[in-house]
Amino acid sequence: MNPRKRVLLAAPRGSCAGVDRAIATVEKALELYGPPVYVRHEIVHNTHVINTLKAKGAVFVEETDEVPEGSVVIFSAHGVAPTVHTEAARRHLTTIDATCPLVTKVHKEATRYAGDGYDILLIGHEGHEEVIGTLGEAPDRIILVDGPEDIDRIEVRDPSRVVWLSQTTLSVDETMETVATLRERFPQLVGPPGDDICYATQNRQIAVKQIGAQADLVIVVGSHNSSNSKRLVEVALGAGARSSYLVDYAEEIDEAWLEGVATVGLTSGASVPEILVDGVLEWLAQRGYGDVETITAATENQRFALPRELHHDLQMEADHTCHSP
Ligand code: SF4
Repeated sequence: MNPRKRVLLAAPRGSCAGVDRAIATVEKALELYGPPVYVRHEIVHNTHVINTLKAKGAVFVEETDEVPEGSVVIFSAHGVAPTVHTEAARRHLTTIDATCPLVTKVHKEATRYAGDGYDILLIGHEGHEEVIGTLGEAPDRIILVDGPEDIDRIEVRDPSRVVWLSQTTLSVDETMETVATLRERFPQLVGPPGDDICYATQNRQIAVKQIGAQADLVIVVGSHNSSNSKRLVEVALGAGARSSYLVDYAEEIDEAWLEGVATVGLTSGASVPEILVDGVLEWLAQRGYGDVETITAATENQRFALPRELHHDLQMEADHTCHSP
């Protein structure tokens, strides 16, 4: 008899508080100021979200010098270096900073430790937007550690004043291994006061570990430039899944992946709208995987207020509407 086909659906999954806030920021800015509203870099790393916002009038640019003087520009959830703020001010741009507050927390840690004379070992992926932004907070004090091969090359001013910080979307287990290796070289290494890897990244990894241990195949919905989504594939494989793939949409799933598969695990990255997961569930149901069980590893109720700049303009508009005859 063939084993029962089923889907284990991870919870929590999908968009986090920082992503919800960033998307809402662009939508509110479009309502308030009208299109075009410029956004420096992808507001969040998800193809579907970007295409939806483009259709509403958002214009995505790589750098602020592509934004016409005097326009509105939004900085993405991944954060920016202080030089980007300076350049935007020089060009008389109205800026709205949608940096996730949990990324801002890492920026503040970096400036504080740099001010206290520490060398900062930033564990993260070279070239990732968040890492570029954090590095920019203290370029003379931060050394990027992107894998074990970087560790032997590190030179610090004072081995008794070294701290490690990290990108918010890394694999928790891998990061702890890196920290252990760093501590062998720098026994007095100190760590951040709280977790730099954010709650959303951690919870999604805990959940995918649970489904990965029971599933033959784990499908992760997310884009290929999404760091936390890519980590979910790695964690699923590490937990025991025979195979795991990252897809933007259900249409990208290859039927061959289902060969000999009884249990499919399903989750999504922190920048993924639930509608895309629904599409995958439907696709799987059409192929006999209609039995869905949710595996809940944590519950989340984190919310972030809209950026201060936007909040102010929304209030002004509300006051104006109230006082209009
Ligand atoms: Fe913020 Fe974490 Fe979401 Fe990134 S993944 S936007 S750091 S909550």
